[in-house]
Amino acid sequence: MDWQKEDLKYIWHPCSQMKDYETLPPIVIERGEGINLYDVNGKCYKDVISSWWCNLLGHCNPRINAAVKKQIDSLEHVIFANFTHKPAITLCQELMKVIPEGLCKFNFADNGSAAIEMALKMSFQYHYQTGNPQKKRFMALSDAYHGETLGALAVGGVDLYSELYKPLLLDVIRIDAPDCFRCPYGKRCEGHCSFAPSPQGEGWGEGATCHCECFEKAEKTFAKHAHEVAAIIVEPLLQGSAGMKVYPPLYLKKLRELCDKYNVHLIADEIATGYGRTGKMFAFNHAGVSPDIMCLSKGLTGGYMPMAIAVTTQKIYDAFYDDYLKGKAFMHSHTYAGNPLACSAAIEVLKILKDEQIIEKANKRAVYFNKIIREKFLPLENVGEVRSIGLINAIELVKNRETKEPLDSSKRTGYQIYQKALEKGVLLRPLGDVIYFNPPLIIEEEDMDFVTDVALACTKDILCDII
Ligand SMILES: *Cc1c(COP(=O)(O)O)cnc(C)c1O
Repeated sequence: MDWQKEDLKYIWHPCSQMKDYETLPPIVIERGEGINLYDVNGKCYKDVISSWWCNLLGHCNPRINAAVKKQIDSLEHVIFANFTHKPAITLCQELMKVIPEGLCKFNFADNGSAAIEMALKMSFQYHYQTGNPQKKRFMALSDAYHGETLGALAVGGVDLYSELYKPLLLDVIRIDAPDCFRCPYGKRCEGHCSFAPSPQGEGWGEGATCHCECFEKAEKTFAKHAHEVAAIIVEPLLQGSAGMKVYPPLYLKKLRELCDKYNVHLIADEIATGYGRTGKMFAFNHAGVSPDIMCLSKGLTGGYMPMAIAVTTQKIYDAFYDDYLKGKAFMHSHTYAGNPLACSAAIEVLKILKDEQIIEKANKRAVYFNKIIREKFLPLENVGEVRSIGLINAIELVKNRETKEPLDSSKRTGYQIYQKALEKGVLLRPLGDVIYFNPPLIIEEEDMDFVTDVALACTKDILCDII
């Protein structure tokens, strides 16, 4: 059977111009192992983007496989209103040991965007029920990404995804996000951005001059709008879809203070940053403060099952807790909330992280990864910067290194590098002209050598053709 032809007959793939598939048909994957994916012809692809940032511990991880297999023989799913099960309870007990202090009530959904919707509704309803019905707007950062459903899209700020749908979206108050590469204040935050090894949460590096001067934008916006605002939502430390833009933890600390001052909820979208991606269990751990609501999804089940959780505080929970006829309940549900198979995978993920000291070991290898990426890429004239946090490394290609002028986006440089790398067995998926690595935490040094060599060769080839 011609699987590719059959695929194109039926399937409309996510986030794709389907016409592109005429020249790059979908790759039919048959099995996975560790960071490797194998297609039907046996060709191997190194999955260094963790299949859209969700695969945490390798494909077909034997321990997670066993946990899910065991669960499926006793219970696949059950309604989660009035019913419960051991896997969900155990998962919450285990998460309590690792989540930021103060978070303690878990509301389940089945994908990241749904958790964001839940957080927004929860925040609005909290204020409504505590005497502040005028707090019905949201604040978010420019270049933010929070998912694709209408509420999540509204708080998102990446035009590629949201521009067209503006007529359908909530009117969100936008704050200019930190932009450390093109810092309008001319500051350097050595420890966390451009030119230093992964921070591992050690505060500022040498040579840093940044004190989050850009935070004044948030202060001004709060002063003007906070009275009508329920919550601000942020991707802590790392704006993923914006091109893996990294900013310092000090920003989050300041934001926590500002939110307390104005009775505005701080929603942490840790969907991409959670689970060790930034070198700590959660990005908020770097800042030493807690959000009011935290959304989890991608790494939660190790990339096995669609599941998400919005975790919140006792204080928010209590504002919904009353006699039924008071009408204060959170009337929000998803059919697959708390799915036991997903919970069994999620419990095993937490066990593996702990037993095998995955994050600690990944942080050691992250130093090597960042070092070779800098050595290989920084000499290229068109590399504007290499930025990193944890195992995530991003290489921003520019037309002019001095002025930081971007490449002509119509040349689709990143996309061409993607195609070339696929031929050579590496799955990169650049964000525009930002090439990045966000591999499973278990990647070994040998694979780091291979994937960076391929990425470098492909980048050189394509840049040579284009410039
Ligand atoms: C992926 C992602 C989402 C959306 O999650 P989905 O499961 O794709 O709906 C939201 N926020 C961030 C930061 C993400 O990376």
